[in-house]
Amino acid sequence: MYKIKKTGNMKVDAYILTDDISSVSEAIEQLKNVASLPSIVKAAYAMPDIHWGYGFPIGGVAAFSEIISPGGVGFDINCGVRLLKSNIIYDEISKHLEKIIEEIYKLVPVGLGSTSKKFEKKLFKKIIENGVKEVIEMGYGKNEDLLFIEDNGTIHPASMEDISELAYKRGREELGTLGSGNHFIEIQKVVEIYDKEIANTLGLFENQITVMIHTGSRGFGHQVATDYIKLMRNIDKNLPDKQLVYAPFYSKLGQKYFSAMNCAANFAFANRQIITHYIRKAFSNFSRLDLIYDVAHNIAKVEIHDNQKVVVHRKGATRAFGPNQKELPEKYKKIGQPVIIPGDMGTSSYVLVGTNKNFAFSSTAHGAGRVLGRRQALKNLKINEVLSNLEKKGIILKSKSKKIIIEEAPEVYKNIDKVVEIVDKLKLSKKVAKLIPLGVIKG
Ligand code: 5GP
Ligand code: MN
Ligand code: MN
Repeated sequence: MYKIKKTGNMKVDAYILTDDISSVSEAIEQLKNVASLPSIVKAAYAMPDIHWGYGFPIGGVAAFSEIISPGGVGFDINCGVRLLKSNIIYDEISKHLEKIIEEIYKLVPVGLGSTSKKFEKKLFKKIIENGVKEVIEMGYGKNEDLLFIEDNGTIHPASMEDISELAYKRGREELGTLGSGNHFIEIQKVVEIYDKEIANTLGLFENQITVMIHTGSRGFGHQVATDYIKLMRNIDKNLPDKQLVYAPFYSKLGQKYFSAMNCAANFAFANRQIITHYIRKAFSNFSRLDLIYDVAHNIAKVEIHDNQKVVVHRKGATRAFGPNQKELPEKYKKIGQPVIIPGDMGTSSYVLVGTNKNFAFSSTAHGAGRVLGRRQALKNLKINEVLSNLEKKGIILKSKSKKIIIEEAPEVYKNIDKVVEIVDKLKLSKKVAKLIPLGVIKG
């Protein structure tokens, strides 16, 4: 853990958790800018998966008492991960994996600009204002699912009045679509359990098949962010970086962005729910799939920390509440909030739980984090090598685009084992299980 003492315009210190400080200098400059924003509380934090992002670094956590900033949330509002557990082990299904992946690929629209059926305005409004329970009423899943989604899949306040026509038009055909690039559906196998009791409570066991979904609010969230960044342009003329635009949280504009962002968050929860429905369909001959948890990693939320109400911005960071927090589902009260940290399509991913350390407003990492930019990846990596490496490991890959396979190759991400080791050793969250990929659908 590195600490940058406040200097210059910084209002608070900054903390960086990393095993390679020299590789993240650009993101550290961004973190220092974040530490200079008005009303920042306590400190600015960078998780071990930190890398450069729009205004705020990805892997960053900052809480403010008086402002909200779209750059601190990111363009893919409520990008997040959901983990489903089956009740079967690898040997029982290995022969059918290829077919199941094919089936999911047929059912879930995948890729840049992919669309689903069009949701008319009245229904769309219900979904973005009320979240997952609306789509469950439409038949996408069961009521029990709600228990295992952060905030039960509905965040308030969320009003369609704060959404532009363009955002609606971009979003109405994207519910239940995966999107492109970093987003994925992955069939996995549990290969290691680090805490048997907690794994038991979560319903995880060795050799079990799990399914992970990573996607967010698609073009809808992107348009919400774009709309409000524009509206906030002239509020503070002295920003060190204009991508750090913000609005006073309790102003009209601040509240409108908060509401619109929550609409996008509800959209993203609903999106992952509809995708779950299709995956269940593809698995129906083999196993039921139950939700372990669904958690956001791009969001701003009002929370109480040290008796103070603050707007916690987690951008490429995961909330990691420890045991006994009232926000946890009854079933997980004793163990803490499940945290899902994907690694990459060729290596592994992890399940952890939150602890009571409460560092960085109870947050932890959200992934391995990029080390190679997309352009660099295209320049340095060869498609045949990427594909043959995956094939050697027996990983089935479905994707619409060769370009995306290169941009998303395991080589472009940091070593997930190291990232998870850091957050586990510092007790930001506790390791429970390791999952390896068997089949991956990429956007
Ligand atoms: P982000 O939300 O920042 O785009 O991505 C979160 C994390 O997902 C990345 O940092 C990376 O570690 C991980 N990731 C990206 N693609 C894949 C994939 O295909 N499979 C798995 N398991 N993880 C991935
Ligand atoms: Mn995303
Ligand atoms: Mn994400």
